[in-house]
Amino acid sequence: QLSNRLKTVAGYVQHLKKIADIGSDHAYLPSYLCLNQPAMHAIAGEVSEGPLQAARAQVAELEIEHRIDVRKGSGLAVISRGEVEGITIAGMGGALITSILEDGKSKLEGVTRLVLQPNNAARSIRIWLLENDWRLVKEEILLENEKYYEILVAEPGTDRLRYEEDRDKKLLFGPHLMVERNEAFQKKWLGEQENWRRVLMSLKQGKEQEALYKREQQIQKQIQLVQEV
Ligand code: SAM
Repeated sequence: QLSNRLKTVAGYVQHLKKIADIGSDHAYLPSYLCLNQPAMHAIAGEVSEGPLQAARAQVAELEIEHRIDVRKGSGLAVISRGEVEGITIAGMGGALITSILEDGKSKLEGVTRLVLQPNNAARSIRIWLLENDWRLVKEEILLENEKYYEILVAEPGTDRLRYEEDRDKKLLFGPHLMVERNEAFQKKWLGEQENWRRVLMSLKQGKEQEALYKREQQIQKQIQLVQEV
């Protein structure tokens, strides 16, 4: 049974014919797609030997070796330019996903959709997408196993106009998510606000005044953004 998180990611590439799932671990996501979509073919990329073997074993057990090519390598190095229509990268930190996209930029030509699910720091991905002319077409936020997951769906195109107003808020909260403001969104950000308030309290008891003052200002600003949204 695939997690709701990965099912949601899969839903955004299921109409495509060939995708690459980077950091695929057990290849659960491409396996699910290939079992449910007769036209789908996939590349499962993995940098680590253990997860790579797990992916190979999974694909062999399902007898779908002709549909999923499991490849060893870092990031987008496992694909060649023009080879896939869509790319999914899920379950990693936002900074790692951003560096995979940056290092593999040349491989993105011809890719029509990116589906990214960072475990944190979605903001850094939004900045990368904006600066590299990828347009956010949809965002989701969901709660699973007591964690909040954001899913970003992007297509080639510019988003510069969208960010002309309220740029800080849109980068932090997500331009789509902050309009929808669903229950998961509200709970996530009220929870973050609680954490920041706790940090502020402990900063106030600290001694290195200048550094603390700076951090306090940053946190106050974030709390203010949450209040406004
Ligand atoms: N994508 C799956 C998911 O969302 O459930 C697995 C997530 S798992 C936490 C992260 C995987 O990414 C690990 O198997 C790790 O080996 C792999 N990984 C980390 N850095 C990578 C890179 N630069 N290129 C490819 N895979 C990478």
